[in-house]
Amino acid sequence: MRARNYDANAIVLKYMPLNEADRIITFYTLEMGRSTAIAKGVRRPTSKLSGSLEPLNLVRISVVKTSSIDIVQECVLENAFLDIKKDIIKVAEAIYIAELVDAFSEDWEPNKNLFSLLQDYLKILDSNLFSPLIIRMFEMKLLDCSGFLPELRECLTCRENLPPDKYLFDIEFGGVTCSKCVNDSGNNGILISQDAMKLLRWLQLSSEVTKIKSMNLSKNLLSEVKIVLNNYLKHLSERKLKSAKFTNQVDLFNS
Ligand SMILES: [Zn+2]
Repeated sequence: MRARNYDANAIVLKYMPLNEADRIITFYTLEMGRSTAIAKGVRRPTSKLSGSLEPLNLVRISVVKTSSIDIVQECVLENAFLDIKKDIIKVAEAIYIAELVDAFSEDWEPNKNLFSLLQDYLKILDSNLFSPLIIRMFEMKLLDCSGFLPELRECLTCRENLPPDKYLFDIEFGGVTCSKCVNDSGNNGILISQDAMKLLRWLQLSSEVTKIKSMNLSKNLLSEVKIVLNNYLKHLSERKLKSAKFTNQVDLFNS
């Protein structure tokens, strides 16, 4: 149960305009999980909230609940991650990780690890440690925080340890099938090389973000790992959307 009014450490995930001067803001908060509140008058330059509620900002918010909606009463800017905002590529990557957190989180269900992950990776993007593989590491850690870490040690079908080989990554079941079982499973997974498998396992186990920038990896290898992770994440978020839609339909039916 959430308190009536609340204070929270929050990261602005996105906003939508409302009326002439207001915005509906979606936050990811340490204390409450994902939450939504209205920032009244924020689009007027004279508003005390103006400027602090931009996407990707880390803020401290006070929110009050009225009979119908939650309203942001106060907001203190803690970090605007200005180095991200000077670089269009970093902005695109930061918006992408905010979208992933939005897709993999629930309203009013706090997940401290997920909040820390988002905050830590915004700090990394804001530093000179950024490289595309950092985003792959974020994706793997997000899967871990959300309970969808892929099985990369044993075959999904025969459960034997995976020998050095090429493998088939199954996005439906979140793991890998060995070459002996590929025909039995009849699935249409994504074929991955042994090097891509090694890199995926390293992303799963390691947190050595400082090492990433000096790693010299081929474009093909990076693209192989990106395709696997992106397809798996896309599949999971679509499944979540479908089940939310179904739950809403059942709620309507029962109301
Ligand atoms: Zn097998």
